[in-house]
Amino acid sequence: MLAKLLAYRRGIVCQQAVELVTDYLEGALSRADRRRFEAHLAACPHCTEYLAQMRKTIELTGMVTAADLSPQMADEFIALYRRWQADPGGESE
Ligand SMILES: [Zn+2]
Repeated sequence: MLAKLLAYRRGIVCQQAVELVTDYLEGALSRADRRRFEAHLAACPHCTEYLAQMRKTIELTGMVTAADLSPQMADEFIALYRRWQADPGGESE
């Protein structure tokens, strides 16, 4: 479902990037995965925004686990992408 929504192909797709965000923030990615993740971020303002929101959430809560994030944040992320898809010109926010 998510994969269909996030039909971007730039090294790794957005869904994969989203799944890597938590590991990335915890420093748990391998060097190769981190490089792919950062390469995707460089080409994808949407995932950059998502990462920024995750960082903010972690700062606010002090602790974030993948289990905590999955349902709620995934919903918010899908909503974000729906908005971006509905408004293709709206990359400058
Ligand atoms: Zn992306």
